[in-house]
Amino acid sequence: MIPAAFEYAKASSVEEAVKHLDDYGEDAKVLAGGHSLIPLMRLRLAQPKALVDINGIKGLDHIEVKGSKVHIGALTRHVAIQNSSTIKEKLPILAEVAGEVGDNQVRNMGTIGGVIAHADAAGDYPTLALMLDADIVTNKRTIHAHDFFKDIFTTSLAPNEIVTEVVFDVADGPHKYIKFRRRLFDWAIVGAAAQKVDRPDARPGQGGRGRAGQGRQAGRGRPARVRRAEPVRRPARQPGVQEAPREGAGQKGDRTSPIDM
Ligand SMILES: Cc1cc2nc3c(=O)[nH]c(=O)nc-3n(C[C@H](O)[C@H](O)[C@H](O)COP(=O)(O)OP(=O)(O)OC[C@H]3O[C@@H](n4cnc5c(N)ncnc54)[C@H](O)[C@@H]3O)c2cc1C
Repeated sequence: MIPAAFEYAKASSVEEAVKHLDDYGEDAKVLAGGHSLIPLMRLRLAQPKALVDINGIKGLDHIEVKGSKVHIGALTRHVAIQNSSTIKEKLPILAEVAGEVGDNQVRNMGTIGGVIAHADAAGDYPTLALMLDADIVTNKRTIHAHDFFKDIFTTSLAPNEIVTEVVFDVADGPHKYIKFRRRLFDWAIVGAAAQKVDRPDARPGQGGRGRAGQGRQAGRGRPARVRRAEPVRRPARQPGVQEAPREGAGQKGDRTSPIDM
């Protein structure tokens, strides 16, 4: 199908993009990779009055480690995250997740800023952003992931607010992301992530702790952090060796329903 008519403006800076958004008003949309927005427009489920294309903004596709944080520019494509040696070293679960997104074309075009701003409950990154306590940085403020995802396709972004980067803590320990889908390249019916992180107050012999997150689809779900699966209460048998989080293993479905949260 052909989208409804819309105006188009290409921005070369964040300030210019914000000005366009202000000029067009609430019915304007940011265009990043277009791999969620354009299909919605073709189905006429979205009919923005104008698109503000941010693909020409230089410096929004960075991957940088600053101290204990990994900064990823909003325009960073999934393929860049998947192949980044920095991400593989400092935040390997994100490279794993990026490699699970759609097919090559989707990974070549889709951006981390787009997938976060779109807030699709079936998207792979929102679960991780919640689980890893990511910060979403915009042209106005920094929003903690927990305050960012309000509902399916709904975030706390204002109409003239642009995501500029997503910031994660370095997490280079054992991890796993599992995505259940009916066919290769499909969206997740459900995805579950786990990451071991160091616990700052851990005593010798206690090791660290885990974090668990789960994303849900089925039309009404939204990503959730499964906190009851996280604590590892038993001390490790040997100093520095992590005991498996058996107590958490049974909590896999806990609190993932939006009604329960
Ligand atoms: C066939 C197919 C399969 C897919 N499979 C998966 C999958 O398995 N897992 C997965 O996670 N995703 C999947 N996707 C979605 C893909 O990851 C998209 O890239 C992503 O959802 C949106 O990113 P985008 O850059 O394309 O954003 P766009 O489509 O350009 O924008 C999406 C929304 O976010 C807003 N937006 C974009 N960037 C910003 C920004 N910087 N600041 C503020 N608002 C912004 C737009 O206004 C729009 O509302 C798939 C898409 C397709 C077409």
